[in-house]
Amino acid sequence: MRPYLFIIGLSLGLTLGHASARPLTVMLDPGHGGEENKGAPALMRPGTFEKKYALNLAYLIRNELRSKNVSVLLTRDGDVELGLKERVLMANRTNADLFISLHLNSTEKPGPKGHATFFLAQEAADEATRKLVEFENRESKTLKPRLVDVPKDEQVGHILLDLTRHRAQQDSRRLAEIIQARMRTTSPFPDRGVKQAPFGVLKGTSMPAVVCEIGFLNHVKEGLYITSDDGLKDIAKAISLAILDYGDLIHFSRNQGKDRRK
Ligand SMILES: [Zn+2]
Repeated sequence: MRPYLFIIGLSLGLTLGHASARPLTVMLDPGHGGEENKGAPALMRPGTFEKKYALNLAYLIRNELRSKNVSVLLTRDGDVELGLKERVLMANRTNADLFISLHLNSTEKPGPKGHATFFLAQEAADEATRKLVEFENRESKTLKPRLVDVPKDEQVGHILLDLTRHRAQQDSRRLAEIIQARMRTTSPFPDRGVKQAPFGVLKGTSMPAVVCEIGFLNHVKEGLYITSDDGLKDIAKAISLAILDYGDLIHFSRNQGKDRRK
């Protein structure tokens, strides 16, 4: 076979393979929102806050993934506050394959820089992570839940859920590693690695779920980069490519494997 025919055949096979498999559904969760929960202040852009850039990043990722056989859902599509449990419920109810919570980091004392991706653990590994989790887990006191009926898990449901969550936890680590790998080649700031922490927004998700902290708002250079149009576009591209990588490496290969066994 001539090489170009082989390439056409290969790309056609991959396209058809993806088209026949269930599309990947991603729930993006822009952190914070509303007047009471603005997130960390963007010190390099006075008067603006984390909530704005997290939402802009979600929109940019959604644009990147348009026409890529990936369905993108958002927990919030505007400047509104949502409870942590509600974000989890939204992901579970829509049967999303992935849940990615988007945040911009900050510290009491400026200095730290770089990007990190977290998956769930019972406890924070160090004091800096504990402080970060405490900040990210805050909800405003006036917040009223929009989704009120929490599903009742039955005994069998619990067991199935545990098994699902066990696999989801392993896949969460892989998703975090894939995101960091793409961020490493994109962001000019350090790779702080894959970490684990007890983020409220990761508790109870039935799919692979991570929190992305894309950089530090209170670092002079990084704070400008992660709030600039170009910086956010770069990061959106990196996270989108990571989502596509995850689809190719895990989601589609697993679905196609199932098809083959039928
Ligand atoms: Zn945050």
